[in-house]
Amino acid sequence: AIQPAERMKGLPTQFFATLVGKANAQIAAGHDVINLGQGNPDRPTPPHIVTSIQEASANPLYHKYPPFSGFPFLKQAIAQRYKEDHNVDLDPDTEVAILFGGKTGLIEIAQCLLNPGDVCLVPDPGYPDYWSGVALAGAEMAFMPLREENNFLPDYSQLKQSDLDRAKLMFINYPNNPTGATAPASFYEDTVTFAEKNGVVVASDFAYGAIGFDGQKPISFLQTPGAKEVGIEFYTLSKTYNMAGWRVGFALGNKEVIRLINLMQDHYYCSLFGGIQAAAATALTASQDCVTELRDVYESRRNALYTALASIGWNAKPSQGSFFSWLPVPKGHSSQSLADLLLEEAKVVVAPGVGFGTHGEGYVRLGLLSSEARLEEAVQRIGKLNLFNS
Ligand code: PLP
Repeated sequence: AIQPAERMKGLPTQFFATLVGKANAQIAAGHDVINLGQGNPDRPTPPHIVTSIQEASANPLYHKYPPFSGFPFLKQAIAQRYKEDHNVDLDPDTEVAILFGGKTGLIEIAQCLLNPGDVCLVPDPGYPDYWSGVALAGAEMAFMPLREENNFLPDYSQLKQSDLDRAKLMFINYPNNPTGATAPASFYEDTVTFAEKNGVVVASDFAYGAIGFDGQKPISFLQTPGAKEVGIEFYTLSKTYNMAGWRVGFALGNKEVIRLINLMQDHYYCSLFGGIQAAAATALTASQDCVTELRDVYESRRNALYTALASIGWNAKPSQGSFFSWLPVPKGHSSQSLADLLLEEAKVVVAPGVGFGTHGEGYVRLGLLSSEARLEEAVQRIGKLNLFNS
């Protein structure tokens, strides 16, 4: 029998793969399932970006191996976007790495920086992919609880000194998956101070950087004085431009971390298909009206969802950003038992909070990934189960 390497033993089955499997079984059985479980944008990529790859794919320049670590024009495009959006200066040559979606960077940074015995500080609840790179590096995790009473921000003063002594890397993520929270500038300032004091590299996951509600424009970690000295930011086109299937993301900031990520990628891959890089540059440099429109769509959906939830007595503070809603589980249920019940009885897929860490217990996550009418229908179906005192 084939024996996997030790490092594979730390990798659980991908959480979302299990979720998708359960939903697909219901669909295969002929049910009309409303899937609010996975974070997969439901709308197509804007047409000007699709046209761009169609044209670029005919260009023989892109049929060859692309340059190691990607085409300079794409690095310039992301640097220009950060300047316009956040007034952040980035040197395209040394402060930008092109990734196969943000996800690969989350795994690579852990392998670039962590040795066995090192600690990575991870938000709990948090995006499960933060755990994977740490497991592959043979390192350990120390969880930073995100509590509702602290607006789902970690409280650095509560972390154990014994963990801090070994900590080399930390993940933060605002707008947040799964809680829908956003972070103020003061939080990022505290994070830079904390990272300097403890010698920890900050990995800010800005996957939902374009999606802030009620007039809030999400703040980039890199806007914080001193941020580039202590860390990097991950940014992705997946959510901002409905390009999840295209697999384009970036790591931005600290030169040494970017050098390490590029070095690792030069061994794994020869960068992305040039046609995708050309279209990604189009996305970043063309009119950003599609991004504003996308944010407005999610905000309308959020408003429709919370109005519907209130009507069945499922009360929660509306999310501030990202496309997730984080809702308390009613008495008598765990997050998993509620998710199972909603799938079986209402044919609505939600993600159980426990899948995001032990502090996710007591909540389920709903994505704003269907039309307002479907979101309202999902809530009506849930309302019929009489789980709440309306
Ligand atoms: N980070 C967070 C918080 C996410 O929710 C996701 C995707 O769901 C990603 C990173 C990865 O995105 P991608 O690999 O598509 O860039």
